[in-house]
Amino acid sequence: MRIIKLLFLICILPSSLLAQHYFQQEVNHRINVRLNDKSHTLSAFEEIEYINNSPYSLDTIYFHLWPNAYESSFSALGRQKLADGDIDFHFSNAESKGYIDSLDFHVDGVKAQFEYHKSHLDIGYLILNTPVLAGGKVMITTPFRVKIPDAAFSRLGHVGESYMITQWFPKPAVYDRKGWHPMPYLNQGEFYSEFGTYDVSISLPKNYVVGATGDLQNQGELDFLNQLDEDTRDKIKQKKLTNKRLTENEDSTFPPSAKEFKTLNYTQKNIHDFAWFADKRFHVLKSAVLLPKSKRTVTTWALFTDQEASLWANANEYLDSAIYYYSLWNGDYPYNQVTAVDGTIAAGGGMEYPNVTVIGQSGSAENLEMVIVHEVGHNWFYGILGSNERDHPWLDEGLNSFNDTRYIEKKYPGANLSLMFGGVGPKLMKSFGLNDLNYRSIHEYSYLLNARRNLDQPIELNSKSYTPANYGAMVYNKTALVFNYLKAYLGDSLFDHCMQSYFEKWKFKHPQPEDLRDLLSKKSGKNLVWLFDDLIKTTKKIDYAITGFKKEAGKTFLKIKNKGDVSSPYSISFLKDTVVKNTRWIDQASAPHGIDQHHQLIEVDLEEVDQIKIDYDLNMPEINRTNNSIRTTGLFKTADPVKFQWLLGVEKSKKNVLYYTPIVGWNKYDGAMVGLSLYNHTFPEKKLEYTLNPFFGFGSSQAVGFGDIHYHLYPYEKNRIQRLTIGSNYSSFNYSAIENGFARYQKFSPYLDIDFQKKNRRSKWKHKLFFDYNFISENSDNHQMQAFRAHYELTNSQILKPAKIRVAYEQGNISQVNGAFQDYIKTSITATYRFNYNYQLDGISLRLFAGHFFRNNTFSSRINWQLDGQSGEQDYLYNNIFFGRTQVQPDFLSQQLKENHGGFKAPTLRSSSSWLATANLKIELPIRFLGLYADGGIHPVYVVNSQEFVNHYLYEIGGHFSLIKNLVDIYIPLLMHEDLESEFVFRKVSFLQRIRFTVDLKLLNPFKILKQIEP
Ligand SMILES: [Zn+2]
Repeated sequence: MRIIKLLFLICILPSSLLAQHYFQQEVNHRINVRLNDKSHTLSAFEEIEYINNSPYSLDTIYFHLWPNAYESSFSALGRQKLADGDIDFHFSNAESKGYIDSLDFHVDGVKAQFEYHKSHLDIGYLILNTPVLAGGKVMITTPFRVKIPDAAFSRLGHVGESYMITQWFPKPAVYDRKGWHPMPYLNQGEFYSEFGTYDVSISLPKNYVVGATGDLQNQGELDFLNQLDEDTRDKIKQKKLTNKRLTENEDSTFPPSAKEFKTLNYTQKNIHDFAWFADKRFHVLKSAVLLPKSKRTVTTWALFTDQEASLWANANEYLDSAIYYYSLWNGDYPYNQVTAVDGTIAAGGGMEYPNVTVIGQSGSAENLEMVIVHEVGHNWFYGILGSNERDHPWLDEGLNSFNDTRYIEKKYPGANLSLMFGGVGPKLMKSFGLNDLNYRSIHEYSYLLNARRNLDQPIELNSKSYTPANYGAMVYNKTALVFNYLKAYLGDSLFDHCMQSYFEKWKFKHPQPEDLRDLLSKKSGKNLVWLFDDLIKTTKKIDYAITGFKKEAGKTFLKIKNKGDVSSPYSISFLKDTVVKNTRWIDQASAPHGIDQHHQLIEVDLEEVDQIKIDYDLNMPEINRTNNSIRTTGLFKTADPVKFQWLLGVEKSKKNVLYYTPIVGWNKYDGAMVGLSLYNHTFPEKKLEYTLNPFFGFGSSQAVGFGDIHYHLYPYEKNRIQRLTIGSNYSSFNYSAIENGFARYQKFSPYLDIDFQKKNRRSKWKHKLFFDYNFISENSDNHQMQAFRAHYELTNSQILKPAKIRVAYEQGNISQVNGAFQDYIKTSITATYRFNYNYQLDGISLRLFAGHFFRNNTFSSRINWQLDGQSGEQDYLYNNIFFGRTQVQPDFLSQQLKENHGGFKAPTLRSSSSWLATANLKIELPIRFLGLYADGGIHPVYVVNSQEFVNHYLYEIGGHFSLIKNLVDIYIPLLMHEDLESEFVFRKVSFLQRIRFTVDLKLLNPFKILKQIEP
């Protein structure tokens, strides 16, 4: 039984006490486990020899019981998945969940008390009957049973009778210099475990093929695997393994399990985890690789199903090469075998364990190689160098990503980014400009995506503090970038010497970031403050610029400006006819030519040089490469020519690109429109962005269109502002058919947007401020209007219960040549809350609205708070897209509605020039696209007879139908207050004419050109 006991506090020794001397516990495991493939359970017995090498005696030992992470959606795993928008586990049934139970701990043969962590069911602690003294040891035993969860959720699981048995047994947490490290199991966030010897015996039906950590001790089973290897080779020869199926899954049928069981025994020393994978359908291929230093031989195994068999036929070559290069650069692989298993797990990617790795569906040979190399590489950065992955994930994922990228660059010289997109044709790659980007640049773009927007996070952070995007972009990609930078700066041989020393000193141990720093600084003899203090611990950016030349006393100096936040070494290359003549590294730590902190003069010889470039080889994480080069001749030495490109592309260091794409549009008055969109928006975000969208309307025979230009400012992260955007947009279309043609509007709107920085980057709360000024002229009656608006918006974007509060202020005036000056001041508050109740994200949403005029000297009902949302005519600030703005019944275009203001759906003419308050409820039924809605509201109406205001209470109820979810919605009013009903009877609005539709074009608006600010 699993019972949560009350809080039992355990003193953790202060880290300062422990920081003095390095020590490491030894934990040896012996496990006998039996698989039941009918009930998907494991029954096991475990013996743990715990040797206390610390200088302290211990009365408690923390344990991880990670299968309990799958016990409920309120576990740390469940909460993290939900926070990341993954609802599979939250809505999963009991059948697909998992847990560990039947524990009965004994220490040295005597029953011992075991308690669960007060908030994590997957952490517990064993209370020793007598403390284990410094240098002493205890023998801990327990039986346990694991219910294996569905593999769709995380790393432990089964898909039918295919088993991925990982993080599956009770295991002591690490006790090191810094104290105990108990941690709940997480998806985003890996592990930290003690080294020791594993001796694991697995019993299962005889026809399973198993890939596992450790050396297999059963000769009979080795013969069986060797036979399968031969069989697989025959099948390849006869071309029987040609499958590369990506969608259908014919081989999900499993052969029946043998009645007879077999017991396989695996042993390994100097490892800190044990995983195994079992499937009756596995093909087997075997190979061997000679290690570069010791010349020992390592056996490699590939175990795979039919699913991507044709790709896996080459897997051993990837395994062999990975082992060879990682050994060459870091130190020889110390074990005898490496196994890669085709995991058939739902998600792609892979997961590493000592000696064995599981690989998800990969889709292409290139992808399979990259994932295999990465996961095998973890044998070094995780397996042998057993760092604390949860607290310092960059030490394993980052250093490993650096190495796997180096592998691809070494093995496939000149490899470009297209390797990442196996299956994408070379022509397509070329048309988007991806073919001439080097393979490594994936790290740079991944980093820049958030670094440019001030949304990046430091490399040195705990795994659970990252947003999902930054976990990849910073931990994997930025780390790979900065270590490539270090390698370029130190040179390959010094760098390799440093990393090999790190490996030799820390293998089979628990290195901390400071240990790597000490070692690299010592071995390289360089000051690495810029790397460890700035690039790893902060989000400071690198941006060096060449600003010109200076001539002095017959000498020429290159003017360099450090526009970034980091003082780091950088390289300068001298080119002639685009060929690099030589490259120099400028070492900031000893830079002699500095004018001040941010400006440097570097003496150069311009003979036989026509261009100079900073970081020619793209080794540095430069935030802005457009200022990195200069020509020695010509008028605009640092400017780049403009290039035109179709549709999309990524930013290039050398080119100023203007993109173009044809666009089409339609409205009632301009008719079908054809235009050309011109823009410089690219990936990643730029400071200055603009777009121009001229159209020709075949209905109006006029040129119409819209455009936008804005500039982003990004204060350094310590500020509370993530991004300031200053810009302006312009639009002009026809909005009405009049006697002798069309009436046309023009809108010019400068704006300022402020995006506030989140204190906790994983928080779902975000707040913004927008200000804009709207100048609008309508030429039909020489109508001019101006309006200033200020909005504050607070949103919560969590997946199941998103919410938003918006406060708006608007002050404006209308002037007509033949009329009086009219002005108004109004304010509103809108709150929306949604509750998604099922896996399809069908939900119930509630919206509350209140609008109020402080002042209203206008005679136009357009300005009023509308009881329903705004129609085209009422959208006086031209914020939204209407296909027939001024159409009237019976034209169905007049039934287009913007869901704002009072939010009623029936096309009532009721509005208020003083105040209005409403509530809108929408219920989406679990039947796709169908729903119900109900609106209630109140507004004052002036009664002439009694000369006073009377409050009117109104309601309506109707049906809702999504033509395209979140894009086109249709509302059918069915039942309403008698006052509304009599209004429609009086106005002769038929049932069909009461139906309204909404079109939300935000989804079709990639550059957020149309600032649809409500209400
Ligand atoms: Zn990894």
